[in-house]
Amino acid sequence: MATLEIKDLQVSVDTEDGPKEILKGVNLTIKDGETHAIMGPNGSGKSTLAYSIAGHPRYNITGGSVTLDGVDVLAMTVDERARAGLFLAMQYPVEVPGVSVSNFLRTAKTAIDGEAPKLRTWVKDVNEAMDRVKMDTSFASRNVNEGFSGGEKKRHEIVQLELLDPKVAVLDETDSGLDVDALKIVSEGVNRFKESGDKGVLLITHYTRILRYIKPDFVHVFVNGKVADQGGPELADELEANGYDKYVSAAV
Ligand code: ADP
Ligand code: MG
Ligand code: MG
Repeated sequence: MATLEIKDLQVSVDTEDGPKEILKGVNLTIKDGETHAIMGPNGSGKSTLAYSIAGHPRYNITGGSVTLDGVDVLAMTVDERARAGLFLAMQYPVEVPGVSVSNFLRTAKTAIDGEAPKLRTWVKDVNEAMDRVKMDTSFASRNVNEGFSGGEKKRHEIVQLELLDPKVAVLDETDSGLDVDALKIVSEGVNRFKESGDKGVLLITHYTRILRYIKPDFVHVFVNGKVADQGGPELADELEANGYDKYVSAAV
């Protein structure tokens, strides 16, 4: 059981010209077993929403709430959010110099479970997860994201998702920069995750193409820091045909 509830979320960032309001009252509820797609034009605040849920220090929460099963997520440290069952894959995954993929995954798993995974099964689990996304097992000894191509970073995210086994995953532009083969592999990974339990998925994307592979239950149109419209999967088809223009002009 897991429900991620975002209520009237308002977020600003500090700029040279003072605080700038980016999220202007976001409401969204993701229940277990549900996949929600957030779609919107560039600069509408999609990544800001993901970073705010993740607890990125640059984003100031000025109003509203985010709760996981009623517990205040915004009061949690980044580590506590992960332990509570939230997984946040970022649009621009950071490099972690000097830390191998294998150590990174093991440290993350240990932090989340409160105990180190059993070495023998763990190595097997890691190798199998890498196999499934067609990542060469030599990646395990490379430093996290250092020199990884865009596609390799995204595959690594899916490996993390499968091994860390969160309750709710927030995936920001998991499809950006992927060729069709990589998009399929990554989408299959997300679908395996969804089917591995009653998982909640918040899939943030600019393009509709990933939604051909990962079927959303709900689609939200995000414009100018707010949800401007919502519907079922058919809304994604409408956006594919007509774009965001009607929402953008309505928001001005
Ligand atoms: P999206 O992911 O939908 O493309 P973002 O959340 O990245 O949108 O950005 C939303 C708006 O907030 C943009 O106008 C962007 O320039 C601005 N913004 C985001 N982060 C910062 C920041 N750290 N400092 C200043 N402006 C920011
Ligand atoms: Mg963007
Ligand atoms: Mg973005």
